[in-house]
Amino acid sequence: MEPVCPVCREREMVIIQLEVADRDVTLLSCAACGSRWWRRDGIDVEVGNVVDLAAAAAASGSRRRKGRPSRTA
Ligand SMILES: [Zn+2]
Repeated sequence: MEPVCPVCREREMVIIQLEVADRDVTLLSCAACGSRWWRRDGIDVEVGNVVDLAAAAAASGSRRRKGRPSRTA
């Protein structure tokens, strides 16, 4: 299924695939009008959704590391 720009219906776009918190996240950028949007697991999502995902992953990661504080002096 080819993505189509929701703004100008252009079919040519830049697709950047990322992995956020072990999820496949895709950034689509329209080649014609420059609109950008995100997809997660093949579903259009708000950018805030991706940010939340990354923040949650970062938080759980740091929480895991917190148990043993390392001293570097
Ligand atoms: Zn467009």
